[in-house]
Amino acid sequence: MNIIVLKFGGSSVANNESLKIVADKIINLYEKGNDIVVILSAQGKTTDKLINEAKELSKCAENRELDALLSAGEQISAAKLSILLNDLGYNAISLTGWQAGIYTNNTNQNAIIKQIDTERIIHELKLKKIVIIAGFQGINENMDITTLGRGGSDTTAVAIAAALKAKDCYIFSDVDGVYTTDPKKIQEAKKIPALSYEEMLEISNEGAKVLHNRCVEIGEKFKIPIITKSTFNNKPGTIISDIIEENTVKSIVKKDLSRIAIVGNGIIRNIDKVKEILNIISENKLEILEFNVSENKISILFKNIVDDEILEKIHSII
Ligand code: ASP
Ligand code: MG
Repeated sequence: MNIIVLKFGGSSVANNESLKIVADKIINLYEKGNDIVVILSAQGKTTDKLINEAKELSKCAENRELDALLSAGEQISAAKLSILLNDLGYNAISLTGWQAGIYTNNTNQNAIIKQIDTERIIHELKLKKIVIIAGFQGINENMDITTLGRGGSDTTAVAIAAALKAKDCYIFSDVDGVYTTDPKKIQEAKKIPALSYEEMLEISNEGAKVLHNRCVEIGEKFKIPIITKSTFNNKPGTIISDIIEENTVKSIVKKDLSRIAIVGNGIIRNIDKVKEILNIISENKLEILEFNVSENKISILFKNIVDDEILEKIHSII
């Protein structure tokens, strides 16, 4: 089998127009002879909306019931996409987490996938169907629905890719990849073509909400290349895999007002760049409270607030 896993985020499935774009992408890859498994998020801001509605009903809704509620969001997008693909003449089937064999522990609202029984998925793929799975959800030992924590559809996608030994796992969203810093704040931000799993983990740990952390860990463990791309253009994205490119600074993340992290494999040995960064810090009279260096990351806590201008200066040296 030639399985590829495609995951589409909430804004990629927000309405019928975007669902059509998603369907086109899927059909294109299906026509090339791939066996396609699609993982979807809930449409647009559905999850937020459901959470707020539950809060209006109760200040202490049970986690079990919240999972039953929130998991509905992903089921809606999966069913809608399947209806559309079938209408376009392609055989598709939507599956909930439990139908897809995704078993988790009992931690409602933040469950961890323990095992995936791929029998049903494989059966449908052999019938040449496009298999669409509701992301973010599974089932526990009591047959209760669980969810994997906010942003968890990424983790569903990579876990399914690992269980199916898929070639690649594509994560489609409204951004076309991982950037050197937040492109919404710093204009000069550039897309990073490739990152190692370790670098990506450092970047997500610093709070950049590009990918769900656990999906990167699973990708690393099972050696699944994760490719982040935009649904809405064909630009090359960012590939996260085993590649180790030494001594390059990849990304600068501002965790909060006074803390930045600079990520890159072997950054600790890139003395020149470290010196340049320290120069900028002293030129701008920033006072360092904490300075932590590891193989792949320098993280600095300042006494002062680091404004975007200084961030831009540090960014300019990478
Ligand atoms: N719908 C869920 C959320 O908004 C899961 C996801 O989109 O990955 O957090
Ligand atoms: Mg997400």
